[in-house]
Amino acid sequence: EAKSAGRDMARFFSQETDHRVLARQTMEVQLRQALAAGEFSLHFQPRLNARSRKIQGAEALLRWNNPLLGHIPPAEFIPLAEETGLINPIGSWVLQQACRHWMALEQQGLCKGLALSVNLSVAQLANPELVEQLSQVLHETGMPPEQLELELTESHLMDNPLSAQARVAALKELGVQIAIDDFGTGYSSLSYLKRFEIDRLKIDQSFVLGMMDDAADAAIVNAVIGLGHTLGLAVVAEGVEDLATAQALTALGCDELQGYCFSRPLTLAELINYLQHNGQHGERRRLRS
Ligand code: C2E
Ligand code: MG
Ligand code: MG
Ligand code: MG
Repeated sequence: EAKSAGRDMARFFSQETDHRVLARQTMEVQLRQALAAGEFSLHFQPRLNARSRKIQGAEALLRWNNPLLGHIPPAEFIPLAEETGLINPIGSWVLQQACRHWMALEQQGLCKGLALSVNLSVAQLANPELVEQLSQVLHETGMPPEQLELELTESHLMDNPLSAQARVAALKELGVQIAIDDFGTGYSSLSYLKRFEIDRLKIDQSFVLGMMDDAADAAIVNAVIGLGHTLGLAVVAEGVEDLATAQALTALGCDELQGYCFSRPLTLAELINYLQHNGQHGERRRLRS
């Protein structure tokens, strides 16, 4: 009996593996044609000044809607795009599209001076054409470089520290800002913080989500804010889901807040509506009835 249970188990696992391999292959086939098929779009999530609660900027977040597979979260397809090298064309589409949208908002007078954050992946940072590509996007779209912020993770910088350092310096020379995303999860050494020209730290949402119930998470959040400020960096908390957390972060001196408490990632149309009602002047304008 034990033997047959073992056999069933083995069959179960191999079927499971087959399914996973098949699902991955299907996703890869679909991902290869997604850009040409126009299946990608961008959402934008506002981040707010912690004290004034005015919008400071927004983060572009990639969305993939495939007719066969439906909505696939970036946590699933970004790693696959990285493994297959597809992240380079996809990532440059994101940069161009995000800057285009931003300048369209700017022309409508909706986001004067607001920052646009774009996530970069390791493969993009490693791409020798990145700096030239970005410079071209800035030129073509008219995006002011100081309003564009690139989000990198710690592991990006530590994969190949010397070449990453040179690349980050070249990006900074274009005038863009650099943020470290998911700070606190990637690497155990902080020495890179003094070698890279960084503007902002984004505390990883796992610490923020836990900080009201878990003393260790709260201590880490507090330490990151202190460290960032000592180094002259702005500190952003992401994953702020409720007002109690927002208030605690503000009391700890966190500079900016991003999370469902204020806004989910929005479509461009929703962002336009958001900016019309919570524009850079901060006061919630009253809708005429
Ligand atoms: P990230 O850059 O750390 O983005 C923050 C993620 O947290 C987003 O997930 C966002 O929707 C989610 N989030 C925002 N507020 C809250 C909150 O209050 N609570 C919780 N639980 N979550 C919140 P999303 O959009 O699924 O993206 C996941 C990750 O995929 C991103 O993490 C980023 O690493 C990657 N990604 C997304 N778009 C791009 C892109 O265009 N290029 C690259 N290379 N990576 C991207
Ligand atoms: Mg990010
Ligand atoms: Mg993050
Ligand atoms: Mg992340």
